[in-house]
Amino acid sequence: MQAFVKFGKEPGQAAVAEVPRPVPGHGEVLIKVAGCGICGSDLHAYNSDPGYEWVTPPVILGHEFAGVVMETGPGVDSRWVGGHVTVMAIQGCLRCPACLAGNSHLCPERKVIGLHFDGAMAGYVVSKADQLLPLPSNLDLSLAPLVEPVSVALHALRRVVIRPGDKVAVSGPGPIGLLCASLAKLHGAQVLLLGMNRDAKVRLPAAQRLGLDTAIVEGESSEEVVRSHFGPGMADLFIEASGSAAALKTSLGLVHRGGVILVVALYNQEVTWFPSPAVRDELSLLFSYASTRQDYLQAINLMAEQAIDFSVLAQNFPLDKAEEAFQEALGGQLLKPVLVL
Ligand SMILES: [Zn+2]
Ligand SMILES: [Zn+2]
Repeated sequence: MQAFVKFGKEPGQAAVAEVPRPVPGHGEVLIKVAGCGICGSDLHAYNSDPGYEWVTPPVILGHEFAGVVMETGPGVDSRWVGGHVTVMAIQGCLRCPACLAGNSHLCPERKVIGLHFDGAMAGYVVSKADQLLPLPSNLDLSLAPLVEPVSVALHALRRVVIRPGDKVAVSGPGPIGLLCASLAKLHGAQVLLLGMNRDAKVRLPAAQRLGLDTAIVEGESSEEVVRSHFGPGMADLFIEASGSAAALKTSLGLVHRGGVILVVALYNQEVTWFPSPAVRDELSLLFSYASTRQDYLQAINLMAEQAIDFSVLAQNFPLDKAEEAFQEALGGQLLKPVLVL
């Protein structure tokens, strides 16, 4: 079968290659992949960025995917065969206190399919049966790789309370920022999505198609932009989804007293700030990472209901154009590239 393999430790050492089809072992199933999204962490692994030294080549990338179960290994209920499924991207041991509390994304032994071991940028992938999630037949399999990013946005918003009419500013119009903004709008919030000049071509127009208000903050003070949109009270909630250390630092000045800052991005730089004003303003600074099984189930329902036009986010590439898709994604001019099989 064809697969996109990170074959060496050097940046960009990844290519489409012919590899043997995997065989499901005890407790595992074989899935024929329908589509697999390219995520920011795949780009970091592709580039061998600092913080990704634990990715050991050769490994087939891909953790945001959906497909059809073709075969079950020993010890697995054969009724899975023929079922449409997605798979938990971050896989816990399912035995520790975090896993038993439903927080397998916080498991001390967590592993990511497609980074720690072979993933789904391939014709077929093997997965543990206890990490599967069944998909309803009315959810388009080619869109279902978006279940993972939707679950991440749902998980983030579960960290906060959003009431109708709340003022929510979101920085970073990548897939997670767009999804957080769209979901906050579904909750009845007034939402402003902030981007940079480079987002004017693809990402901000996509946001507008989703019915979101947008603004460009490059060369302008974000305080001024947020104040002129929401009025002197500033935002109730600021969601930082851009991954820019500067944007995170500024975010403390964009909410009113008692406001909340929710951080869902990852950063490649340290952030320093003087804490006393935030203490006096009694700000809440929250962090959110990945998602739980419960978030996946909610994401699947939301996508099956077509609560948002999720197709705006996906851009399809055939698997043999994976390298081109990675290069384009690195240029920041795509939303969610999906390799379709
Ligand atoms: Zn991901
Ligand atoms: Zn665990």
